Amino acid sequence: MGMQWRVLKFGGSSVSTPAQWRTILQQVSNNIEQGYRVLVVHSACYGLTNALEAQIKTGTSVYKSVESRLKALLNDFEQPINDFKSDLSQLRQLCDLPQLNDYQQAELLCWGERVCHRVFINHIRTGQTVDSLNPKDWLTTTVNDHRNPHSRVLSAKCEVHPNPVIREQLKQSFYLMPGFFAADEAGRTVLLGRSGSDTSATYMAVLLQAERIEIWTDVDGIFSANPHQIPQAKLLLRLGYQEAREIAASGGTVIHPRSILPAEQYNIPIYIKNTLRPDAPGTVLKREFSPTKPRVSAVNTRHRVTLVSMESINMWHQAGFMSDLFAVYKELGLSVDLVSTAQTNVTVSLDAADNVITPAILTRLKQHLTPLCAVNITTNCSAVTLVGYRIRALADTIASVVATFADQRIYITTQSSNDLNQTFVVDEDQADKLARALHEVLITRLPERDEFGPSWADLVARRTDNPVTVIPWWQQQRSRLLAMADLHSPCYVYDLNTLAEQADILKSLTAVDRFFFAMKANAHPAVLGKILQQGIGLETVSPGEIDRCLSLESPPDRRNLLFTPNFAPIEEYSRALEQGIATTIDNPALLYDYPAVFKNRRIILRLDPGHGSGHHRYVRTAGEQSKFGIPESTLPNLADWCEQHEILVFGLHAHTGSGILDHRNWQRIAHFLARGLAYFKDVEVINVGGGLGIKENPGDSGLDFKALNASLSDFKQQHPNIALWMEPGRFLVAHCGVLLAKVTQTKLKGKQGYIGLETGMNSLIRPALYGAWHNIVNLTRLDAPCDFSANIVGPMCESGDILGIDRPMPATRAGDVVLIANTGAYGATMASRYNLRDPAQELIIGD
Ligand SMILES: *Cc1c(COP(=O)(O)O)cnc(C)c1O
Repeated sequence: MGMQWRVLKFGGSSVSTPAQWRTILQQVSNNIEQGYRVLVVHSACYGLTNALEAQIKTGTSVYKSVESRLKALLNDFEQPINDFKSDLSQLRQLCDLPQLNDYQQAELLCWGERVCHRVFINHIRTGQTVDSLNPKDWLTTTVNDHRNPHSRVLSAKCEVHPNPVIREQLKQSFYLMPGFFAADEAGRTVLLGRSGSDTSATYMAVLLQAERIEIWTDVDGIFSANPHQIPQAKLLLRLGYQEAREIAASGGTVIHPRSILPAEQYNIPIYIKNTLRPDAPGTVLKREFSPTKPRVSAVNTRHRVTLVSMESINMWHQAGFMSDLFAVYKELGLSVDLVSTAQTNVTVSLDAADNVITPAILTRLKQHLTPLCAVNITTNCSAVTLVGYRIRALADTIASVVATFADQRIYITTQSSNDLNQTFVVDEDQADKLARALHEVLITRLPERDEFGPSWADLVARRTDNPVTVIPWWQQQRSRLLAMADLHSPCYVYDLNTLAEQADILKSLTAVDRFFFAMKANAHPAVLGKILQQGIGLETVSPGEIDRCLSLESPPDRRNLLFTPNFAPIEEYSRALEQGIATTIDNPALLYDYPAVFKNRRIILRLDPGHGSGHHRYVRTAGEQSKFGIPESTLPNLADWCEQHEILVFGLHAHTGSGILDHRNWQRIAHFLARGLAYFKDVEVINVGGGLGIKENPGDSGLDFKALNASLSDFKQQHPNIALWMEPGRFLVAHCGVLLAKVTQTKLKGKQGYIGLETGMNSLIRPALYGAWHNIVNLTRLDAPCDFSANIVGPMCESGDILGIDRPMPATRAGDVVLIANTGAYGATMASRYNLRDPAQELIIGD
């Protein structure tokens, strides 16, 4: 005996195909060859548990969709459906129940794990011996759990200790076990909560006194920030358990905090590895890796945070006041995340991940609290959390970063008593900027540290096996671009062929009847001409833009123009209407003050989705804090007014923000706007706005156009007489433009390298304004190794004149041409003559 165990856990995205099982079995063999016994814990195949969950969320049967998923899976694994008849009939029984109690929900939700387990066991046994382990035989929930019954069944906890019996009984070298579920004291199935399979793995590792736990995922490990938000985020090679738990709790998604605790108690190291790159180092959690010096290891952001501020002078010296307040939260089942107190004010935050927050719940909360104090609720906030060790020692540095946000509201700041984290709650649209600034100063700019591995951007750049890497057009056109830069730099170059490709992608949205290009993203006449050629109209926001359209070589028909101004003088509206251009009104006051201007005119109303679409973070061109849109509550009166004054509302419109990658956004908007059909009987158009996100960084997965089209088709089926319009800007033009500029000087300050360009924020202000990330390369030396790291800066007298921070660059000389990618949108149109320096000129290639 005496052979040591290793527990390997593979998540849903790593177990779904026979090819992935080859990787898994390879890892198993490696471990067995090294003399270990192996327990593999697996999840259900990707998407299956979510599909099952829909039954509980929506109350409509998911049987058909789950059955077809199973069929597809069995097809891949070449197994007959007949062997799974009894599983399917059990599923049907559960789906047919009108209401599921907690235990039935647990049975339903782990159906995927159980069925996949059988598929996997069958599959492995065609080549080698493996024994199946039933988690209900070994994992039993703790009896003294005082949480509510619902949590005890669906988010159960087990108390685990090393168990000599299991070590005695398991004699084979390879076992397979489904994760996520366990048994309660009566033998009923219970679930271990979100990411429960990780927890199953660490529980089993404790029972088996395993030598290590390996959590296999589809990412490289834990990063110092969300790499999709901050590509400079560094891979954390070594972490202590406590830090890892704090990172997981503050928004990290790689591993669930609850699964770390058992490993920590029994000092079992956790290795986080990437199935796609099994030999990469990954992240290792061990007690010895706990830091000894003050440091910040990660900057995390959580969105959809709600703040409740409670104000009362009675707080002072009044015994039991706080407990009265918190009793209200308990009664409504709301779990409080952060608390900050002052003499007469207590502010708490509610996290959407732990709570179901609806307008109705918030109204009830307010009603219950109002007898006790004055209540103010702010939705759509974000929490930015620094995780590290002895963070207070870094207070000065942190304060200097936060001070630059002086003109923005920081609603609350909290510091944990264990000095492992500090959190700032800010408006959602400020969170990314704050997180980037903090990450830059506290992590990116610091000298190399042992615990930090390569940045995410570096890892992506190095990857040759990346299937989504397509060679960008500017790489294929390199010599031509270098010649153009030689004569004309600094210059933007727009490739019309790429523009046409983007238009084709857009037109794959067959549910959309008409597209209008938001020309504030790019107003170059050749670009506008090309877009009109594609059958896409133009959306304008000023008389200047209208004039630009009408003076094009082949000017568009008026029906291909839209005018969507905001707080503009009334003359602009009357002029556009007289020109026969469909005009969008976003303030009722205009219609009340100038009914004569709009009499017998056909107009579109821009509505404010307000709370309705507050499920996502890009809500700031909607909601009370935004200047855009008409609130829904004013629609009944407005409808009466329009009828009285013969103002014809033929369309409803909303646009909620930019760079949105969640395909559900536009369907949500469409459904919201459809509520307006009740008031305006002549509406024939619903315009769901723009904001389609692009792949900003190499390796991004981008917007799911198939899913977007499906969701909009769904809407169209419900509203067959309504035409759907969309008005993207960035999506059409971002990829087709690059900015070329020559290097003026380079400089080394300590360890920090600078590469100076002949143009900066006067040509491209997005990095300075929003912290936007653009890929930057030395086009002259495209193939040279990037051994250096430098800040790429412009010549303006402004410390914010930075185009990129800490970019991997080759040895660079004055006169080299630097290319800044994806700058076709909001580049030239936002340029200025600040410092009286002319911005980059615009050139065209392609046809
Ligand atoms: C800016 C804008 C758009 C385009 O936004 P993108 O993020 O570039 O797609 C669409 N509609 C309106 C009303 C806008 O203001």
